[in-house]
Order: sequence, then C-alpha cells, then structure tokens
Amino acid sequence: MEKLRNHESQYARSLIEASHDPLVTINTDGKIMDMNQAMTKITGKLREDLIGTDFIDYFTNTQKAKKIYKKVFEKGFVVDYPLTIKDHTLTDVLFNGSVYKDENGNVLGAVVVARDITEQKRIKKELVEAKIFAELATEIAEGARKKAEKATEIAENAVKAKQQFLSNMSHEIRTPMNAIIGFTKVLLKTEMSEKQREYLDAIKMSGDSLIVLINDILDLAKVDAGKMVFEQIPFKMTSSISAMLHLFETKIQEKNLILIKEYDDNIPDVIVGDPVRLHQIIINLVSNAVKFTNVGKITVSVKLKSETEEKITVEFSVTDTGIGIKKNKINKIFENFQQASSGTSRLYGGTGLGLAIVKHLVEPQGGSILVKSEINKGSTFSFTLDFLKTNAQPEKETELLQVNNLNNSFRILVVEDIPLNQLLMKTLLDEFGFEGDIAENGKIAIEMLKLNSYDIILMDLQMPVLNGFETTEYIRNKMHSKIPIIALTADVTTVDLAKCNEVGMNDYIAKPVDERLLYSKIVSLVINPSNALNKNEIKETTKKTFKYTHLDSLIRRTKSNPKLMMEMISMYLEQTPLLIAALKRGFHKKDCELLYSSAHKLIPSFSIMGISIDYENMAKKVQDFARTQKQNEGIEAIVVQLENVCTQACLELEKEFNVLKNKK
Ligand code: ADP
Repeated sequence: MEKLRNHESQYARSLIEASHDPLVTINTDGKIMDMNQAMTKITGKLREDLIGTDFIDYFTNTQKAKKIYKKVFEKGFVVDYPLTIKDHTLTDVLFNGSVYKDENGNVLGAVVVARDITEQKRIKKELVEAKIFAELATEIAEGARKKAEKATEIAENAVKAKQQFLSNMSHEIRTPMNAIIGFTKVLLKTEMSEKQREYLDAIKMSGDSLIVLINDILDLAKVDAGKMVFEQIPFKMTSSISAMLHLFETKIQEKNLILIKEYDDNIPDVIVGDPVRLHQIIINLVSNAVKFTNVGKITVSVKLKSETEEKITVEFSVTDTGIGIKKNKINKIFENFQQASSGTSRLYGGTGLGLAIVKHLVEPQGGSILVKSEINKGSTFSFTLDFLKTNAQPEKETELLQVNNLNNSFRILVVEDIPLNQLLMKTLLDEFGFEGDIAENGKIAIEMLKLNSYDIILMDLQMPVLNGFETTEYIRNKMHSKIPIIALTADVTTVDLAKCNEVGMNDYIAKPVDERLLYSKIVSLVINPSNALNKNEIKETTKKTFKYTHLDSLIRRTKSNPKLMMEMISMYLEQTPLLIAALKRGFHKKDCELLYSSAHKLIPSFSIMGISIDYENMAKKVQDFARTQKQNEGIEAIVVQLENVCTQACLELEKEFNVLKNKK
C-alpha cells in the first residue's frame, strides 16, 4: 500500500514537472499547496518558501489574481486568464486551471497553469508596431504624394501662367504691330521720295519679322505645353498651295529668283488634313529657301507617293539653289534657336526657330522631314504626310479671286474694338472701294445690323461686352441671319478655328491682314453664293447697279494717289472718244492702218480702268483683223459694242473724276 502510494505520488510529480509553464495547486483559501520547478524558477523562491503562501501575492495585480482563484472554485475552471507575475521581468501569463476533487466530489483545490505569453506579446507588439509603422509610412507616402501633386499643380500652373503670359503679351504686341505694318503698307502706296520708301520698307520688314518671331515663340510654347492640335478638315490642296506661294511672289521677284511649282495631278482634288499647319510648314521652308538663295530657282514639288483606298501619302519638297548647309550642321538646324553658322543671324536675320517648329508640326502628324544639302549648290527639304480621301466638299475656298473685274460697292460691317485696327480696316476697305461701318463691340454690331443691311461682317474675336464668338452665335441663332461673317484673328495658329466654324463663321483671316486675301475672301463670300450660308440673302444683297469700270486696278497702279488717278482718268476721257472715232472711221473706210493703230492704242486702257477683259479681247480681235484682214465676220458688231462700252465707261469715269475732285 505504502509502495503504491509512493508510486502514485511519483507519477503525479512527473506530470506536474512535465509542464514547462509554471504550475501551482492551491487550496480553496488561495494558499499554494504545490508547484513545479518552473514556478520556483520564475518566482525565484524555494519550494518550502512558496508552500502555504497566498497565490495572489505573486502577481502584480493582486485583486485580479484573487478573481481568478475565486472564479476557478466558483465555475470549476478558468481559461486564458491574463496576469502578470511579479518576477524581475514581470512575465505576462495566461492562466488555465480547473478544480480537483476527492472521491466524494468535494473540491480539494485547484490546479492552475500559467502560460508564458511574453513571446506572443512581443510578436503582437511587433505586429502592432509594424502596423503603426506601415500606417505611418502610408501617411508619409500620402504626404509625399500630396506634395508631389501640389508641386505638379504648381508647375502646371506655372506653365499655364507662362502660356497665358505669352498669349497675352503676344496679343498685346501683335495689336500695335499689326497697326504699324498695316499703316506702313497704306503709306507705301502713297507718293514719296525714294529715301522715304527705303525707310518705310525697312520699318515694314522689321515689323514682319517681329510678327514671325511672336508667332514662332507662341507655337513653341504650345508644343512645350503639349497643346499643339491638328485638325482634320476637307480642303483643296492645289488651291491652298497656290494661295500660299502667292505670298512669296513679291519677295521672289525682288530677288530675281524663279519659282517653280510642280504639282502631281493624281492627287485628289479634295482631301482631309490640316491645311493651316501644312501652310505653316511650307511657308517656313519656302521662306528659308527664298532667304538663303541669291541666284537661281526655288522648286516646290508636291507628289503623290502612294495611295490606298482610304488615304494618300504625299511627298512635299522645297528645293533651292542657295548657299547650302555644312554637313556637320545638318542635324543641328532642327533644334530650337540653332542656325547653321554664327553669322547667319547677322547676314540673313531669323532666330533659328522655324525648322524646330516645322519638325514639331510634321512628326506628330506621322510624317518625317529630311534634308539634303550641298554647300553653294543648294538644299532640298522634303517631308511626307498622309491625308484621308473624301467625298466631302472643302470648308472654305482658299483660292485667291481675280481682283480686277469685280463689282466694288459692298457694304461691310467691321466689328473691332481697337481704334488703330478700326482705322486700318476702314482705310483698307476705302481702298477697295467698299463702304465700311465700324462697331466697337458685338452689342453695338447687333444694334447696327438691326438698323442697316450689310453684305458681310468682318468680326474681331477678342472684344469687350460681347466677343466675336458670342456675337456670331447671337446673329445666327437669335437674329436667324445668315450674313457671311469673316473672323479677324490675331493668331491663326492658336485660335480655335473649330469654334469659329461651330458658331457659324464662314471664314477667317489672320492679322496682319494680307489685303489681296482679304479682298478675295470678301468678294468670294459676297458674290459666290456657294461660299455663303444663305444663298437667297446674299443674292438679294448683291443686286447692284452694273458698272463697266472698276477703279481698284487704277488705285493700285497709282498707289491711291488721287492726283495721279485724276490725271489718268482725264487722259482716258480725252483720248477714248478720239480713238473710238478713229476706229469707226478706219473700219468704214477700210483704212487698215488707222484701224490697227486705234485698236492698238485702245487695248491697254481696258485693264487700267478695270473694264472686263472680254472687251479688251474684242479690241484685240479688231487689231488682228486690221493686221491680217482675215475673218471680218462680226467685226462691225464688235466695233459698235466697243463704242457703247467706251461711251458708258467715259460717263462712269466722269462721275469718278468729280468725286475725286470734290474730295480734294
Ligand atoms: P532661321 O531661318 O530663323 O534662322 P530656321 O530654324 O528656319 O531658323 O533655320 C535654321 C538654320 O538652318 C538657318 O539659320 C540656316 O542656317 C539653316 N537653313 C535653313 N534652311 C536653309 C536653306 N534653305 N538653305 C541654307 N540654310 C538653311
């Protein structure tokens, strides 16, 4: 029996000691009865010292400890009850325990095991810390993101501000510049000494290059801001290119160069692309060719390179016989502000921006630009662009109208706020022989439109009170008028041309205004109903009294000099009746010499007085007949007609003469 008990006791001890966690048995009074070595180790006390002491004394929070042993005896067990042992490291533990009973079911005591959760806590703590760090890191990252966003916003605002500044400044500079150039052009047409003309030419040239520079800078700013947009509109390429090359006529003549246009007829008449940008590219290349060539020719060639069902690929090239470019400079010239040699600016002017812009205009459209050049032989700049095929009609006619034989009494409303521009427009319209009224802003224009009838409106875009877009919208939607409207824009490259179209404008023209282009656009919109929106209205407003003579060509020839004009008119009035009489006499008397000489002398007067070329051709027919005496059918009728025309012309010119005399 003794042996058995001993054996049981051994067994119980080994069970107790099997636990590496502190284990104690307590009696119902909470006194420690027994424990394992882990318990003596953690408390640092001897077994004898622990036995009989209060369980709760070994914990930091004695109240909580009391609860656990009470709970154990009340409920019979306890699960994961947290306590901290009062050892030197203050070990955190979780208590699990249950009561033990005698054979009659009486509770003798409880066994409680404390699980050391220091490691668990450490991991938890680390996890919490990691979480906090992660949160902190996210916060920092978020802060950094916000800062970056702010910085981007600031940078973007700075770019926007720069854009805005450039745009405002260029507008501010352009307005007076346009006036300077415009009035210089007007002045250049008047009588002056050679020296004065030379000085004025210099003013105009400087003005022109300033405008080019302003436009270039604005374009580059737009490229920088990624705001270069390309349109896709139907246009007639051949007329578009002819109109553009016309701009160089004077310069080319001045330099005694020859301009050759090679245009591939296989290119469809109307194609879809961006005519404004195409102009810009070719203008840049041709103006360089003209600038850097002193003898020889400039060839602008437009060839169909390939074609599919939907699109065509066109190769454009501008070849000159000019100074050429050194091999080692060829790649540099497409960079901003780069010129082939340091003397270029001094000798030829320019800023080195043109080709950089050309590159930025060609490449985003999927094209590429190439240059071949040989020093003193010449250069070829070529580029290819794709255009879509279309059945649509072009949006606007880019051809320049023949100026000579047109009716010249249109009534035009100019909507423009800047007095200088008003005066300039008025001067130009007067020169064309048109009647021009001025409205300072859109609101006044609308009032004037209600009171008077006009053939066409020239509309500035930026104006106080009611701007050009708003005014056009009002005219189209509220007044339901379809009167042709041409936008006057200071900046054809940035202006929202789509918006002009959208609000119902028929066309636009860039300042400084090219007079011939303006004249051509006005006339084409007023007299050609297909170019205007409302055909009926236009027809009605263009019913003018017919005139044989048109003074525009005389104005040009005399450079608006009234004295000279009067002299020429009076010469015509003096000579024409005599010539007509001689013509008649020659015909009737079959005096071929007289007939020939009178017809011959009459011929130049038709174009000078703006009389239709048809009558000039009639006079030529008479002259031919007098020379060859062949085919006399119809000559008599022609002579009669010429007499009628010239008599009418004399009557009209007499009136014009009196008007000029009264103006003096
Ligand atoms: P800019 O003409 O204002 O100087 P560009 O960018 O148009 O600027 O041209 C850059 C340079 O390339 C010119 O300064 C000139 O040295 C050279 N270059 C351009 N076109 C020609 C050309 N057709 N012939 C000779 N050199 C040219």
